[in-house]
Amino acid sequence: MNEKLETLFTDLGMEVHDNFAYGIVKNYETNGVVRYFDNLAPFVLHITFYATDDQRKEIETRIKQSDFKSCKFRFTAYGLVIGFNAATVKKLTERMPNYLDTLYDILQACGAKGQNFCPLCGKETDPFSLRHCNFNGFTISVDESCLQELNRTVTEENEQFSNAPNNYLKGFCGALLGVLCGAILNVIIGSFGYIAAITCFLGVLLATKLYVKFGGKQDGVMIVIISVTSLVIMTFSVLITFFVIAFLAGMEAGVMLDPLSAFVLCMQTDQFVRLFYIQLALSVILNIVAIIIFMRPVMKAIKRPKTV
Ligand SMILES: [Zn+2]
Repeated sequence: MNEKLETLFTDLGMEVHDNFAYGIVKNYETNGVVRYFDNLAPFVLHITFYATDDQRKEIETRIKQSDFKSCKFRFTAYGLVIGFNAATVKKLTERMPNYLDTLYDILQACGAKGQNFCPLCGKETDPFSLRHCNFNGFTISVDESCLQELNRTVTEENEQFSNAPNNYLKGFCGALLGVLCGAILNVIIGSFGYIAAITCFLGVLLATKLYVKFGGKQDGVMIVIISVTSLVIMTFSVLITFFVIAFLAGMEAGVMLDPLSAFVLCMQTDQFVRLFYIQLALSVILNIVAIIIFMRPVMKAIKRPKTV
């Protein structure tokens, strides 16, 4: 970690390991993390506390009224995560002590229960029976009964997920319908001579939505089905588009050929061949990009949360 930032954390009484810091600051369990490549909030704190909904509202109002510059925050189940940014590390380290004073004062004034209270149920717990858990990289202390409750929920949800029917065929039908919508639009737009490969996004998006809507389960097979279906159908739709273009060109020239023969004939001109391959390549590339974008949430769903 940057020396100035490390000093900032150690001055607060926190211990620093790599880019993480942990400690009790003004009676609140606090996690700090420095993310150098995060443009929005490279300096992030998670403060553990218990607060009622009304107290949370009050905290929110007061933070918004404070003069924190470049600050983003949201509540978590265990407290508050708040990120700060500044043009330079120097500016940030100059600002932070005042900001942190204000922040912890707000929490105290609003009655947020910190150290020795379970952030989930708000019960006072002696420090030795609090369990230190790792949530998304942050160390958060909760009491034994809340931890068991959490683990029970996670286990139940994971069991429900693994016992859910796969419905591959139903999911495939949904995916097919979605991709076909994209493909038809691709042919229509493409036949007018416009670059239509962008419809790949629509196809993959609709396929993803309809796969789930038709009862398909979000698993690895879903990713395979959607990837293969969309790549095959969208590539095929580019071919159809060029059949149509060739057929229309033939009609315009006064030659009545069937679409296939017209296509074969047109493929003898360099310009047509080039256009065809460019569209084909664009379609495949954008299709892959669309798959990567829209399958990310599915990947997340596959990675089930673990018990702590
Ligand atoms: Zn609790």
